[in-house]
Amino acid sequence: MEVFKGIHIIPGIAHDSNIYIIDNEILVDTGTGEFFHQNRRDIEQALDIKRLKLIINTHYHFDHTGGNKKFRDWLRVPIATHAADKDFIERGRTLAESFHQVAKIVTIDKEIRDDDVINTENFELSVLHTPGHSAGSICIYEPQNKILISGDTLFESAAGRTDLPGGNYNELKFSLEKLDKYNIQYLFPGHGMPKTGGVNFLIKKLLTSLDTAAMI
Ligand SMILES: [Zn+2]
Repeated sequence: MEVFKGIHIIPGIAHDSNIYIIDNEILVDTGTGEFFHQNRRDIEQALDIKRLKLIINTHYHFDHTGGNKKFRDWLRVPIATHAADKDFIERGRTLAESFHQVAKIVTIDKEIRDDDVINTENFELSVLHTPGHSAGSICIYEPQNKILISGDTLFESAAGRTDLPGGNYNELKFSLEKLDKYNIQYLFPGHGMPKTGGVNFLIKKLLTSLDTAAMI
């Protein structure tokens, strides 16, 4: 489903994260991998995958990284994540047991950092390091259209939980303050529905009384 011109969402099934595909070039998060065949079919129906060049994990949790191996074997493109979450993924400490699955050991090909810019044909994407839900959580901001792909840092009506390994409540607050410096019109979160408008209002509200979501 195209949620914005050039941005497709494969909505998460069950506990899976949403998968986003930006400009046919960047695939964000890979779900648990449990529904890989369906994900693959949906993606192939909607998109020309030949231009895909990079997989980005917004953070280490299994519901966002469990599909890494299957997606990389299929697409043959590198996987990138923030250094602070890289070890969790490479050591298989991704909380797979919470999903009654066995962790997969997958190497990360590239590290992405705060302020990195990733260009696609139509978008200039900025990487924002937003620790709190995990130490290496990142968001992707597109300034021209004011789009934020937020992983589990920010949802439609709540912020990400901070009680899992690498999580930190104060860091999450700092990260929300940081996000509020950006004008955000479209929010594409790691779980649940996209949100249009009112995103900065939501962030300000969360900063006064921080509601965190239960999902991983
Ligand atoms: Zn998470």
